[in-house]
Amino acid sequence: MQRDDLIRRDLSAVWHPCTQMHDHETVPLTPIARGAGAWLIDVDGRRYLDAVSSWWTNLFGHAEPRIASAIAEQARTLEQVIFAGFTHASAVQLAERLLAVAPPGLARVFYADNGSAAVEVALKMSFHYWRNVGRGERRRFIALSGGYHGETLGALAVGDTGLYRDAYAPLLFERLLAPSPDAYEAEPGETPEQVALRRLDDLHALLERHADTVCAVIVEPLVQCAGQMRMHHPRYLTGLRALCDKFGVHLIADEIAVGFGRTGTLFACEQAPPAQPGGQAGITPDFLCLSKGITGGFLPFAAVLTTADVYAAFYDDYSTGKAFLHSHSYTGNPLACRAALATLEIFRDTPVLENNHALAARLAGRLAPLREHPHVADVRQTGLIAAVELVADKASRRPFPAYERRGLRARLDALSRGVVLRPLGDVIYAMPPYCVREEEIDLIAATIAHGVEAACR
Ligand code: PMP
Repeated sequence: MQRDDLIRRDLSAVWHPCTQMHDHETVPLTPIARGAGAWLIDVDGRRYLDAVSSWWTNLFGHAEPRIASAIAEQARTLEQVIFAGFTHASAVQLAERLLAVAPPGLARVFYADNGSAAVEVALKMSFHYWRNVGRGERRRFIALSGGYHGETLGALAVGDTGLYRDAYAPLLFERLLAPSPDAYEAEPGETPEQVALRRLDDLHALLERHADTVCAVIVEPLVQCAGQMRMHHPRYLTGLRALCDKFGVHLIADEIAVGFGRTGTLFACEQAPPAQPGGQAGITPDFLCLSKGITGGFLPFAAVLTTADVYAAFYDDYSTGKAFLHSHSYTGNPLACRAALATLEIFRDTPVLENNHALAARLAGRLAPLREHPHVADVRQTGLIAAVELVADKASRRPFPAYERRGLRARLDALSRGVVLRPLGDVIYAMPPYCVREEEIDLIAATIAHGVEAACR
């Protein structure tokens, strides 16, 4: 299909996500024909560097040959099978390998087919666990301010990003909000670690009042991604695990965006410093939600990993009615399981994390000069997530009025220069695929710098 024909037909038949469709009267829709490595190629052969990994899903490049062939082989063998009463090799191997690489103490894998569904599974499992052990009064969740966990109703209920939530608020169950340990919110002179400790005190106070009615605390470890790439000190995770233990509530780690090497370790939870000197680094959540990069960005898929203790609370005679009920038609889909296995094989066979460290260091170096810009309040980075926050006034950090859509200006500027950026409000960020080359990192950084100018004019 030709560009104009494709766009016209799209705009008369398709409804796109996260989009005011009216925008497309002025904002161009980009018709992509194929992908190769970190690049997307449109129907006229124009190339765009995918600096946002296609909504943070793609890890090793578009049309990555090893994952593509694994899916093709699986498709020729078994494409789908009902996952109740039946199983298959790819699902079993994947569960074993996920448990082998996940934080220690996770013992069971439940599959779902997107990130929001994984969050629903974790919320329901935690709630149902308490019911099964005779603590049915525990029915609330604690979430962090500025968090995002997806857009189905349960996931939205524990989120705190107004853009996605406000219109549907009347439909959502109530949650308790604890203030985020977001380092951007530091008091003058306060270090990120001190912010984390102060916010742990806030959470402690909340748990002291409400723990008896709380099922779990849900957190995006290290980076609240959709909530404008706000980052916190890993000490928060150590303290959070300790508080959940102290008050006997579950900890749900939503690593849907940050899992699989994005923050510098395979899982962000690994970066929690030891609780005592000489102790063990890393924490193990009661539920670990994974999606997005799990298939290398090829197929929608998710997994929730949990403990033997949680599993045991559901394991009983049928007549007790304790079974966990959450069934998606495509649970354990063989194509997706196989793509995930191929993705884990790439982690096993190549030094992905080491390469990412070098790429992250280069990106940090290239973005650093932006700190001096009169409209840049913050340049922050965790692994291969880097963000530049624009403000109207640097001293007071007063934001630009939202209706000015400064971030959109940066996005369009980048697109015209062949780079895909999709700022969150006025926060311009890069989250490139891991196959990105050093000169491509330089191009992303230069495009962000140009975008900052375009946005602030
Ligand atoms: N949790 C987090 C932390 C996410 O970033 C996202 C997606 N942006 C989700 C959950 C929801 O995933 P999905 O879009 O696959 O439903």
